Amino acid sequence: MASITLNNLGKVYPGGARAVGNVNLDIADGEFIVLVGPSGCGKSTLLRMVAGLESITDGEVRIGDRVVNQIEPADRDIAMVFQNYALYPHMSVRQNLAYGLKNRRTPKAEIDRRVNIAAEILQIGSFLDRKPRALSGGQRQRVAMGRAIVREPAAFLFDEPLSNLDAKLRVAMRLEIKELQKRLRTTSIYVTHDQLEAMTLADRLVVLNGGRVEQIGTPLEVYRRP
Ligand code: ADP
Ligand code: ADP
Repeated sequence: MASITLNNLGKVYPGGARAVGNVNLDIADGEFIVLVGPSGCGKSTLLRMVAGLESITDGEVRIGDRVVNQIEPADRDIAMVFQNYALYPHMSVRQNLAYGLKNRRTPKAEIDRRVNIAAEILQIGSFLDRKPRALSGGQRQRVAMGRAIVREPAAFLFDEPLSNLDAKLRVAMRLEIKELQKRLRTTSIYVTHDQLEAMTLADRLVVLNGGRVEQIGTPLEVYRRP
């Protein structure tokens, strides 16, 4: 696990307007931060800068005591979960879970151990040999989370992971992510525009507007009626 620090973080896209500016945030070890705000406010850009998928224009991101842009992507120890699942269609669930670890030359016994733990946590053990196309949307999203869990990363980044699911499944998966968080206590940044997800999951909420932090607080503080 690791703390994450954003120091005066900013992003201007080439030829574009400012997408993110002057963001300062200290995320504690094991803390679950939810980023909310209207479409276009910079949530995804901020998350991608933390992941090292987007270059940083100003300021810095620190993971633990290291500056993220100075860490090789493969060594960043961050796992990201996307809304489009990003599973490999030609591989079984087990192969999808193992793929990233194999690339990192993790020993087979260790891969098996981690795959089994993830399968147990996410209750996907009964379809480890199926291909993604034979799974429901909710099952696919569990596998996508499994790929993040097996990495045993210092931090999870979630980019609207439930937004492709129907309403009923979204509620169920929201509670599952809550359980996951209780069990693993991995430092997390979670982007959503679903207020119930934000209230259920967040230790603290960060409200972005026009690329800037408008408010930071617990769900009660942020959603309290005036
Ligand atoms: P959100 O995730 O909150 O919807 P984004 O981070 O996607 O917001 O976008 C923030 C701002 O940056 C928006 O004005 C968007 O149009 C702009 N933007 C996002 N990606 C790019 C890009 N690749 N090139 C130029 N502008 C971009
Ligand atoms: P691993 O399983 O080890 O995370 P991947 O091959 O899945 O490795 O991903 C390699 C890189 O590509 C990662 O940094 C990941 O964040 C990024 N990536 C994977 N899928 C997507 C996606 N659907 N959209 C954007 N970036 C992605």
